[in-house]
Amino acid sequence: MLPSGPTLRHVLVVGVDGVRFDLLGPELTPVIWGFGRDGFLGPVAIEETTPTWSGPCWATIATGHGVDRHGITGNDLTGHRLADHPDFVTLATRAGLPTLVAVSGWPPLALAEDGGPLFAEAVRREFVAVAEKSLAGWDAADEAVTGLAASILAEDGPRMSFVYLGAVDAVGHVLGAGEAYREAARAADQRVGRLTAAIRSRRSVADEDWTIVVVTDHGHLDRGGHGGREPEVATAWAAAAGPGIQPAGPPVTRQTQIAPLALAALGDITGS
Ligand SMILES: [Zn+2]
Repeated sequence: MLPSGPTLRHVLVVGVDGVRFDLLGPELTPVIWGFGRDGFLGPVAIEETTPTWSGPCWATIATGHGVDRHGITGNDLTGHRLADHPDFVTLATRAGLPTLVAVSGWPPLALAEDGGPLFAEAVRREFVAVAEKSLAGWDAADEAVTGLAASILAEDGPRMSFVYLGAVDAVGHVLGAGEAYREAARAADQRVGRLTAAIRSRRSVADEDWTIVVVTDHGHLDRGGHGGREPEVATAWAAAAGPGIQPAGPPVTRQTQIAPLALAALGDITGS
C-alpha cells in the first residue's frame, strides 16, 4: 500500500451568467439543485449599492469587495481598482499554485478588452469567442469552453479554477425569461455536471479534496434584460459542496462572501 501524502485541496468556481434563482429546481437543474443536498444552495442578495449588471456583480464575486472598493459600475471595466483588490484566481496564482481561467464569450473577464481582464493572473487562460454573436454561437462557445475546461480539470487538476458560461444570459437578453431561457439553463446545468464528472474521473481524486462552487451574478426581468432592484433581477444565488463547505456553517448570503469562501477552501496557501 502506498503511503498517503497530504491531501491536496482544489477549488472550482463555475460562474453561470444571468440565471434567475426561481428557475432552479430538481427537474430543470438537477446538478445545481444537488448542491443543496450535499452542501448548500441559496439566494444571494445583490448589494443595494451594486448595479445589477454583469461587470459590477462579477467584480464583487471575484474580489470579495463591493463597488466602493473595486470601482466597477458597468460592463466596461475601465477605471477599476482591481490592482488593490485582486480576484481569487490571481491570489492563488501569486501563491504559486496552478490555476485556470476559462471563459466563454465575454472578453473583459479574461482578456485585455473593455477594461479587462477582471481575472488578472492565471497560469492557464482559455477564451472561446462567440461566432457571429448569435444565440447558437453562445451555446457553441459554452459547449467548447466546457470541453476545454473538463479536459484541463481531468488531466491537470488546477488548484484554483474559474469557468464561465454565458449562454443563459444571452438568451435572457434576446428572448426573455421564457422557454428558451429555461432550456439554456438546463444546458448550463448539464455542463456543470460535465465539469464535476471530469473531476470525479481523475485517477488521483481519492487523494484530493475538491470544493466546487457555482454562482450566478444577477437574474433577469420576465421580458429579459437587466432591471434595477426587482427581486427576480437583484436575487442572485450560490451553491457549493465539498470539504471546504460546512452544511451547517454560516450561509452565504452576500456576493462579497464568495471569494473568501473559495480561498478558505484552498486552506493555507501562503505557506506561513
Ligand atoms: Zn451577467
